[in-house]
Amino acid sequence: MLLFDALTAAYPFLWPAFFAVMLYGIRYLVIAGAMYLFVAPAHAGGWGRTLPGIPPGFDARQHAGRELRHSLVTILVFGLVNGVLYSCGLIKASLLYFRPEDHPVWWFWLSIPLMFMLHDTLFYWLHRLMHLPLLFGTMHRVHHRSVHPTAFAAYSFHPTEALAEALIVSLIIFIIPVHPLAFLIFQTLSTVYNIYGHCGREFYPEGMNAHWLGRWINTSTAHAIHHLKGRMNYGLYFMFWDRVMHTAEARSPDTEAHTR
Ligand SMILES: [Zn+2]
Ligand SMILES: [Zn+2]
Repeated sequence: MLLFDALTAAYPFLWPAFFAVMLYGIRYLVIAGAMYLFVAPAHAGGWGRTLPGIPPGFDARQHAGRELRHSLVTILVFGLVNGVLYSCGLIKASLLYFRPEDHPVWWFWLSIPLMFMLHDTLFYWLHRLMHLPLLFGTMHRVHHRSVHPTAFAAYSFHPTEALAEALIVSLIIFIIPVHPLAFLIFQTLSTVYNIYGHCGREFYPEGMNAHWLGRWINTSTAHAIHHLKGRMNYGLYFMFWDRVMHTAEARSPDTEAHTR
């Protein structure tokens, strides 16, 4: 304990980093674990429909261990970024507000969808950048080792990608005023959606990509195509930027029909 006290005195980011690692770690392991074990167990059945391109004999168990190891490193990086942001005073310089009376209740609830839109925009462009040959090998190749991802691929990043992903999420609290509880709700829902996007099953109705509203929503099917082809469908929650930038490709798992 004396050693830990000495360490935290010398490195004040250690305590906040420790709490952030616990929060990110427990949340991720519970949600991804439940998805992997019960909802979409090893691509061998479960809820929802099979995704296109998964070979009949594919055994997710051969890949989940590697994805989980990379995910644990990512959680450490996320925790360290949070610890440094907190201990060096950057949180105080952000637009994070702690007193609920500082902003109206409607802003609290509106800030959550706004965070999804902001994050989707930042994610899309970071993702496009990481697919440039210069950055792909050093940052993004680890994530694409999962050609048919499992739920544990959601955080399966190289540490440099984990750092970039943590920074773009942190950027949000410097762009719009956010209450910590709204930020927690956003990050938890984001984790759920990210894990759904990698779980190997589809829960949305068929023909989603042809529906007037559904065509703007990113799906597990669309992200599976991204992993399969190594390009197209760069968004996280929405297809907005993919459709605007002509990088959208969605395929119904049943008809194999391509729509853009
Ligand atoms: Zn990618
Ligand atoms: Zn992915």
